[in-house]
Amino acid sequence: MGLLLKIFIPLLGAALAFYFYSAPQNFSEEMLRGKRVIVTGASSGIGEQMAYHLARMEAHLLLTARTEAKLQKVVKRCLELGAASARYVSGSMEDTTFPRVVVKEAENTWGGLDMLILNHIGYSYFKYFDGDVEHVRKLLETNFLSYVAMTVSALPLLKESEGSIVVVSSMAGKSSGPFTAPYSATKFALDGFFSSLRQEFIIDKVNVSITLCILGYIDTENAVRAVSHAIRVKPAPKEECALEIIKSGVLRQRELHYPFSTVGTVILLKAIAPEFLDFLTRNSYDVEKIER
Ligand code: NDP
Repeated sequence: MGLLLKIFIPLLGAALAFYFYSAPQNFSEEMLRGKRVIVTGASSGIGEQMAYHLARMEAHLLLTARTEAKLQKVVKRCLELGAASARYVSGSMEDTTFPRVVVKEAENTWGGLDMLILNHIGYSYFKYFDGDVEHVRKLLETNFLSYVAMTVSALPLLKESEGSIVVVSSMAGKSSGPFTAPYSATKFALDGFFSSLRQEFIIDKVNVSITLCILGYIDTENAVRAVSHAIRVKPAPKEECALEIIKSGVLRQRELHYPFSTVGTVILLKAIAPEFLDFLTRNSYDVEKIER
């Protein structure tokens, strides 16, 4: 036990020191001025809030999602807030040709791209796994494969600008809780793919950063509607979350953990006491209220 503590405490100290050393320290809003940014899933929730922050920072914006009427409103608001320019392309990421359409629009409009923020998700349920394999396949297409396709299309432009890729993931992509099996699988896939790609970029001296954003429960309308009846945790604010994602991307951080207290604890417990973490996670749900 004594030896274990002697090893564990310095390791924990080193991990915390590393975290705080790599946390956003020198962010300034000017870093985004005039930058050309694509935000996916920008018609609502965290994506919409990112668009508003980026607009205030005077970035050029290309927004995408399926619902044209919502995108029109978000673009209008972005222009009022001071965006250098703002436009949208509407379409579904279930359509395998759509990622190329979005990147082509950026190339035709700006002749380049500085930041790709991948944030959209398709609808999934919050309940016991129902055995529907087709749903898992469809969700992998929207939440994972379209992220890969967007990255492949945008990479030549990002290499030229030495830009950034920001991938919005979830605590469910680091440690699985119950009732989100299909969603959790798509988020784990993002970690596997983008963490591997980051290593290859380093080996190949490709100066394109990849930031994986690990988010806890955030107060977007869709998330609150889906889980608030069965979860005993208070959600964190989407506006602050959106700003932290932008900061972590522009500072080229490896990962963002937001809110840090929750996500940091989960990651630490997963490493040192995974069964205890599973127990705590199961007990944070009101399982009586979950549909079968
Ligand atoms: P929302 O549900 O509010 O927004 C999802 C966005 O994706 C919308 O703009 C939606 O627009 C778009 N979208 C949905 N389906 C498709 C599709 N088939 N093709 C293209 N776009 C689509 O999500 P949040 O803001 O809550 O989440 C944003 C990100 O944060 C996600 O990656 C999520 O996993 C992550 N996250 C969120 C948490 C939370 O508690 N909110 C917790 C952990 C992670 P439209 O319907 O118009 O297409």
